[in-house]
Amino acid sequence: MKSTDSNRNQIGDNVRCCWSPRRIIYAIVCSFVFWTQFSEDLSTRENTTTRFMLGTSVSVSIGDRYKTRRHVVDIVFQEIERVEGIFSTFQPNSSISRLNRDGHLVNCSSEIVNVISRALNFSSLSGGAFDITVKPVLDLYQEFHRKQLWPPSEQRLKIATSLVDFRNVVVDDDTIFLKSKGAQITTDAIAKGYIIDRAIRVLRNAGVNSAFVDIGGDSRGIGEKADGTPWIVALQNPREFNQYLAVIRLRNRAVATSGDYERYFVPNKKVHHIIDPRTGRSATSLISATVTAKIAMDADALATTVFVLGPEQGLSLVNRLDGVEALLVTQNRTVLKSKGFDVAN
Ligand code: ADP
Ligand code: MG
Repeated sequence: MKSTDSNRNQIGDNVRCCWSPRRIIYAIVCSFVFWTQFSEDLSTRENTTTRFMLGTSVSVSIGDRYKTRRHVVDIVFQEIERVEGIFSTFQPNSSISRLNRDGHLVNCSSEIVNVISRALNFSSLSGGAFDITVKPVLDLYQEFHRKQLWPPSEQRLKIATSLVDFRNVVVDDDTIFLKSKGAQITTDAIAKGYIIDRAIRVLRNAGVNSAFVDIGGDSRGIGEKADGTPWIVALQNPREFNQYLAVIRLRNRAVATSGDYERYFVPNKKVHHIIDPRTGRSATSLISATVTAKIAMDADALATTVFVLGPEQGLSLVNRLDGVEALLVTQNRTVLKSKGFDVAN
């Protein structure tokens, strides 16, 4: 996924293992810019500010009409950092890490309750294809990859998969607990979208009604650019990075892509970071799933959901949902679109 407004690439924030040459070059360029400018900003061009956060590149663009309110962008990045501090599984004191460690979390803020409840809704909606309890399986893959013991034994995989069940997550008022010992969650498939929505909220509260926020290729646009045209995202071909599959116009909409090409454990990309909760193995029927929706949290969660469900069930789910569209790329490189995809764009 690439936006025409700035140079963006997706860099994984979770499984840093088999880096594609594209990502290595990107990382080198990023660190070079970082060290030569001695600044957090990777680039500040026109009204777009890009920083390296959440293990990826984060861009905030504000429409020309609002350029005098550039200072708001700093508050947006602070908000992104704040929410990351709640949902990150890399920060040992994040709420999610504490929940995973203690098995429960009391006095939860409404935003944690809302994000987790929304995640559980997507689990019910998809018959369990979306499931935030996949963490033990991912940890197992990560561990065996790190120790160069690949592949993990069937026995270990079976044990890890037995812990995967979204019904293990119970939300009771402002308390969340995990019913099974050893169960752990990751909100990585929905929190990025939520963070984008929070960023948009901060911009709107500051009176900015034309803006575009992108985190690692997932994005949301509000209002229009100064020339009256919508914010545009060019959808990259997941196997031919210099080609584009479609141009998506974000008229007060969000877009997210899940793919097998960003973070994988084996070079043939058959074992990667999106897990089919029913098998404990990576979902393999699609190369990528792009979903557009009104808010980024929904687009993010549904992209992962559809990726796991595969072409038939994935499209049938999307076609049942109001205001949601999708573009899928199958293993044999066929491009499939939901009924209203071309109309929405
Ligand atoms: P990306 O992080 O590359 O944008 P996704 O939005 O699809 O991709 O999120 C992938 C992350 O979601 C994984 O790293 C993992 O933490 C989590 N995950 C993997 N499989 C599932 C699943 N079936 N349901 C919910 N979350 C998942
Ligand atoms: Mg997602």
